Amino acid sequence: MYENLKIENMTWQEFEKKKDNVIILPIGATEQHGPHLPLCVDTILAQEFAYRIGEKIDGVVAPALSYGYKSKPLSGGGPLFPGTIDLNGITLQSLVMDIIDEFVCDGFTKILILSAHFENEAFIIEAMDLCSRKYGDKVKILLTNWWDPMSPDIIDKVFDKVPFPGWALEHAAVTETSLMMYFSPKLVKEDKIINTDNVSPATYFRYPIEKDIVPPTGVLASAKSSSAEKGKIIVDNVVPNIVKIVKRAFG
Ligand SMILES: [Zn+2]
Repeated sequence: MYENLKIENMTWQEFEKKKDNVIILPIGATEQHGPHLPLCVDTILAQEFAYRIGEKIDGVVAPALSYGYKSKPLSGGGPLFPGTIDLNGITLQSLVMDIIDEFVCDGFTKILILSAHFENEAFIIEAMDLCSRKYGDKVKILLTNWWDPMSPDIIDKVFDKVPFPGWALEHAAVTETSLMMYFSPKLVKEDKIINTDNVSPATYFRYPIEKDIVPPTGVLASAKSSSAEKGKIIVDNVVPNIVKIVKRAFG
């Protein structure tokens, strides 16, 4: 699916012809997502949203960045779990700056970054700002996390059985699990979805991290009541909302 949008499938001549279109960079993470989801959740979500948006705006999609900035204990479990392979902030910032520079060097002027990992935002913004100072009005760079443009009524529909824990704690919980059930059901171990009480958000950070601050499963909020149908509800709302943002931002 979406093979004709992926720049890695294009020849250089085909790629060159697309330079007036929007180029989308999906950014995810490699991070623990509890006993029922794989480490690649954030990368899959970033890619799958990117393909659906790309199709609607005649955009092209670059290979995803599959590593992200350090997850924190109370928004992903942090370094307490094997399989969370984090980048230092400066590394992520440099990666994003290098890729933006290369897109611009190849003639692209409309760049959409789609992130699916909560902690990436500050370092992507820093990369965007520093690049933008070089390029000025010639190049427009846009960032959205997939959850930001979700309409408020969708939250009520998706959290009809369990309370919405807030986006930081919505990790391996109802939205991510439902989206994975919709995008990539074979990667979801439904029998491993556990009953869990929602963790309370901490009002401080302590390093070294306290080992008992996160439940041993790595699940911060319940994924019970997740379904592919809820995944579709989210996608059918978020994709057109991001398309609207893109059209407004790039004119
Ligand atoms: Zn995630």
